[in-house]
This record gives sequence, structure tokens and C-alpha cells, in this order.
Amino acid sequence: MPYTDILKACALTAAETAGGSLRVTTPVDGSEIAMVPVHTVADAEAAIARANTAFAAWRKVPAPRRGELVRLLGEELRREKENLGRLVTLECGKILQEGLGEVQEMIDICDFAVGLSRQLYGLTIASERPGHTMRETWHPAGICGIITAFNFPAAPWSWNAALALVCGDPVIAKPSEKTPLTQLAIQKICDRACAAFGADAPEGLIQTLIGEREVGQVLTASKDVAVVSATGSVAMGKAVAADMAQRLGKTILELGGNNAMIVTPSADLEMAVRAIVFSAVGTAGQRCTSLRRLILHADVYDTLVPRLVKVYEGLTIGDPLQKGTLVGPLIDATAATAMTRALETAQAEGGTVHGGAATLADRFPGAAYMAPAIVEMPKQSAIMHTETFAPILYVVKYTDLDDAIALQNAVPQGLSSCIFSTDVRETEHFLSVQGSDCGIANVNIGPSGAEIGGAFGGEKETGGGRESGSDAWRAYMRRQTSTVNYSRSLPLAQGISFEI
Ligand code: NAD
Repeated sequence: MPYTDILKACALTAAETAGGSLRVTTPVDGSEIAMVPVHTVADAEAAIARANTAFAAWRKVPAPRRGELVRLLGEELRREKENLGRLVTLECGKILQEGLGEVQEMIDICDFAVGLSRQLYGLTIASERPGHTMRETWHPAGICGIITAFNFPAAPWSWNAALALVCGDPVIAKPSEKTPLTQLAIQKICDRACAAFGADAPEGLIQTLIGEREVGQVLTASKDVAVVSATGSVAMGKAVAADMAQRLGKTILELGGNNAMIVTPSADLEMAVRAIVFSAVGTAGQRCTSLRRLILHADVYDTLVPRLVKVYEGLTIGDPLQKGTLVGPLIDATAATAMTRALETAQAEGGTVHGGAATLADRFPGAAYMAPAIVEMPKQSAIMHTETFAPILYVVKYTDLDDAIALQNAVPQGLSSCIFSTDVRETEHFLSVQGSDCGIANVNIGPSGAEIGGAFGGEKETGGGRESGSDAWRAYMRRQTSTVNYSRSLPLAQGISFEI
């Protein structure tokens, strides 16, 4: 299908994709697919003002009714899954199966949020004073700014937006400047859902701002934006956190990962191989949850490493829109250079590199296809402490499980982790307080590909935010504690006497 048809299928118009100053290229072959108009700082401020007006109306709509809008959004997404999934692939280069998976995740979180809209539970609390009741109520927080990264141009917006909308918050998206088209297409889908919902959905409830960091900074600077959810690099998260701290605004930070797998002697190695390969080369190693460090017991090392090298040699690398491709391109030449530099550093630190060369340059001279790399390391050296956003899998050996867990936890990031083992003592130890220090700790499953039902996020430099399932919804609301005195006297708490 010609690229222009993919844009058209998502109802993107010439006004949105031509004549602007933001050049959008596809990583599939490096060609230009759009020149997108960008928003100015004044446009962003106007969007916040519209969202503010929308908030005054939306917060009064009963939560289950707000859920109906998200239900309609889920219906639209079901209809558009194929078109939007293809656009995700075209714009960020992940294989079509993963592009479709991203849209499925959007549908799943909509379903979750619809149920949630009837379960925004508060508490009743026993009061120490006679004739008094206490309760805790959750109210909408206000406008939610959603800043997202290039590698997941669709799903993280929905993890935030679906929850924020049922919680009563208007949302303003600021997608990556590398992948604005997917968000523009999502905005179209939202506009249709709002139209179907009717007049209860106020103008300005769901908006999109296109631009670089300056546009995102309008969201972080504005005291009217109650919550900023920011997905991206650690450097971005630190800048956003500092800006938000100036006004003590609420943040949800979803930043870089440096995820590990420990494989113990009792592991089912067939399962481990599949999990390793999917989580290390999926999205060409450009997932926040990509497997980057493999910590192998000495007893399985010599079986597993040659096996993995062989599987890597047989991977189908190519056009991510084509059926059968398993590894697509990196987002751009800068990412390919970063991968090459990291491999050089790893070699200088004593590593033995398998794979990792640039490939398909004859067929796609403008693109950045790289063969995924496995790097055998003598120890966990400095390069292994950084997140290189590319398909590099470092492998180290261990003999004692506590040493393996210490290696896993020794990096600054704390997003995802896993162990492959059939020994319950090992797996429970890994999940215990002495085990993984990550927000996600899996057993016999790779570190990537989370379901929406759980809270998603990580510790340390990953930022501490939680999105998606469990009680992540609370971040989009403000908590109110109320004490009601229905007696005819005014006893003070703690028995304090204050006679006037
Ligand atoms: P990036 O940090 O370059 O950009 C992310 C977004 O932040 C973009 O929209 C960008 O315009 C915006 N931005 C940058 N500086 C800003 C500032 N000072 N104020 C406001 N907005 C600002 O990240 P990227 O290269 O697009 O994505 C890759 C990174 O994202 C990796 O580190 C990856 O691990 C991380 N990531 C994390 C998660 C997660 O859930 N933890 C998910 C996806 C990606």
C-alpha cells in the first residue's frame, strides 16, 4: 500500500500533513511522508485555556457517563485497528504485528477504564469523635498533559487518556516530534467518539499539540495543567520534574529502562530462548522494557549463548510492513550511530560482539537497519549501566543467585526484570524484598509486553510513575478527606480543650 494511502486511511488531511515546518520521515525507507504544521507557544496556551473551560463542564458529568465516552472511543479504535496499526508501523518502524498490538492495548485500556468509571471508590473512616463521620472522596484533578515518546506513539497516550477522561480530566497530548501523525490520527478518532457522545463532551476536552520540547514546556510551566504524564528519556524526565517542581505540580514519569533477565540452571531453556529473542529484538530493541542484560548461570551459558547467536543469525530483518519480518529499522541514523558506538565501547570494555552490523543499505539507503547484537561481557562494565536504545543484548555469567540479583539491581534504572527458573525457592526469592528492585518483576516471562491490568512503571531513574491498571487512576484525581459533625457539640480531636 502506498504510504499516502496509509495516511488517507487514517483520515489525515492535506492541511494536517502538508505545508508545515515539521518534517516527518518514515524509518521504513527514510523518505518524507509529511510536513506537519506545528503549534506555537500561543497555540498551546490557547489549548490550555480551552481545556480549562472544558474541565468546568466535564467534572460535573457523572463518572459512569464519562465512561460512556471512553466506551465509544474503544469502539472507534476497534474499527480503526488495522489503519492505525499500519500508521504506527509506518511512522515508528515497529513490525505490523506490534503496531496492531499497540492499538489493541488502547482498546484494552478503554475497556478497563469503562469499568473503572463505576469504581472510583473512596473510603469511609471511623471517627474518634461521637456524632462524626469521616470519608475520603476522589475528585478530578484538572487538566492532564500527556507527553509521549517516539517508540510507543499510541498506547501510552491511551493508558493516560482513558483513565484521565473517566476521572474527569481533560487531556492535552504532546507526541514525539518524530511521530506526530499517529497522534493526529488518534485525535481524529477521539473527535468522532466525542461527536457520537454528544453535547456532554465539551469543546477542548481532548486536544493534541504538535511541536518540539518548547510545546511540551508550555504544559509543564502552566499552573492550569494539574498533572503532567511524561514518557521518554531520563534526561527529559529530569527536565520535566525540575519544571514541575517550580510550581509543585503532579508528575507521572515513565522514563528509560535497562532491563535484565536471570536464567537459572532449572530454567526451561526453550521458553527462555523465545522470551529472550522477543524481548531483546522486538521493536528493534527500542522498547523501554526491551531486554538489555542477560545474566546466565554458568551451567546454562555454553548451551544458551551459541543457541541465541544462531537464532539471531536467522532473524528476518526488513520492511516492518511486510508479513514475516521480525526486526524492523531503528528510528533514524542517529540511533544507528549510537548503537555502533555502544558496541565499540563494549568491545573496548572486553566484550565479544556477535552481529550488530548495519544492513539493507542497498535496498533502503535512507534508512537505519541494524542486525541485532549479542555481546558476551566478562563482567557488567560501564556500558551496561546505560540504556542504548537499540537491539544490543549484553550477556554475563553468574554462579550465585544473590550475585545475579545484585548485578541486576546495580544499574540506575528500575523498570522491568525477570527470572527464568522452575525452582520456587529461586523465583520467590527474586520476587521478595531481597530480590528485584524494579517496578516490574516477572517469572518465566520476558521483561517486555506488559498487560494493561497491572500498574506499569519503574523505580529509580525510571521515574517512579505508574500508569494503566491497578490503582494508577488515583494519579489523575485529587483526594479529599471530609469530617462531618452531625452532633450538637463540638468535641476537638485529640481531646483538646479550648473554651472561649
Ligand atoms: P525523548 O526524551 O527524546 O522525548 C520524549 C518526549 O519528551 C518528546 O515528546 C519530546 O518532545 C518531549 N520533551 C523532551 N524534552 C522536554 C522538556 N524539557 N519538556 C517537555 N517535553 C520534553 O524520548 P524518545 O527518544 O522519544 O524516547 C525514547 C526514551 O523513552 C527511552 O529512554 C525509553 O526508555 C523511554 N520510554 C519510556 C517508557 C516508559 O513507559 N517507561 C515508554 C516508552 C519510552
